[in-house]
Amino acid sequence: MSAARETHIRVSEIFGPTIQGEGILIGLPTVFVRTGGCDYRCSWCDTLHAVDSDYRDQWHPMSVDDIWQEVVRLSGNKPLTVSLSGGNPAIQPLRPLLERGHEDGYRFALETQGSVAKDWFADLDVLVLSPKPPSSGMETDWSAFGACLRMAGKKPQLALKIVIFDDRDYLYARAAAARYPRLPVYLQPGNHTPPPPADDDAKVDIDGIMDRMRWLIDKVTEDRWFEARVLPQLHVLLWGNKRGV
Ligand code: SF4
Repeated sequence: MSAARETHIRVSEIFGPTIQGEGILIGLPTVFVRTGGCDYRCSWCDTLHAVDSDYRDQWHPMSVDDIWQEVVRLSGNKPLTVSLSGGNPAIQPLRPLLERGHEDGYRFALETQGSVAKDWFADLDVLVLSPKPPSSGMETDWSAFGACLRMAGKKPQLALKIVIFDDRDYLYARAAAARYPRLPVYLQPGNHTPPPPADDDAKVDIDGIMDRMRWLIDKVTEDRWFEARVLPQLHVLLWGNKRGV
């Protein structure tokens, strides 16, 4: 076994096949590899079980071969696009996993807030950068964000995805999109009823989310922001806060 394959990755959960519920790949069948740990702590994080260190005992250091065996089992050995999510998957050593999967003809899409740049971003097939707006309580380091784009280079398909809760978030999204006019922009109404980490089936306020979706569509159309795409979190509409779907 090569040294790279001996790398261990901190995994919170692996599940699927299901559909990608958000952004550029919405509706696409996928297997999720959710890594544990995040350098952010957003006020409305909907995956706290993969962020909060109280749940660290549920994160397992897994070898690339063990992760890969599970992905292949879940996908029935048929190549698909693997979604690398978190937490912040960028803080994990994922290059050997990408190499292993590409050998078998799989593709990889990774979503990150853009706070940590890695040279292996260039090996991804899709990189979704999701900077966090003011309602998250986090501050964007735009130089780190720019480094992520530079590291990715030309190969991966790139997209900007921004969660919106209020007017300040909307203005932030407009400014972010203006900084990177060549990136396709996906706007997503925030879920103000995210699951507490110990209760993955907590009730979700779909009516409230749909109200915010309509508000967001009005904002975009009134502003003539015709490059933006407004999408819901499809998995939340279908399954609420349920985990592993
Ligand atoms: S960056 Fe994502 S995973 Fe990390 S705390 Fe924020 S919403 Fe949660």
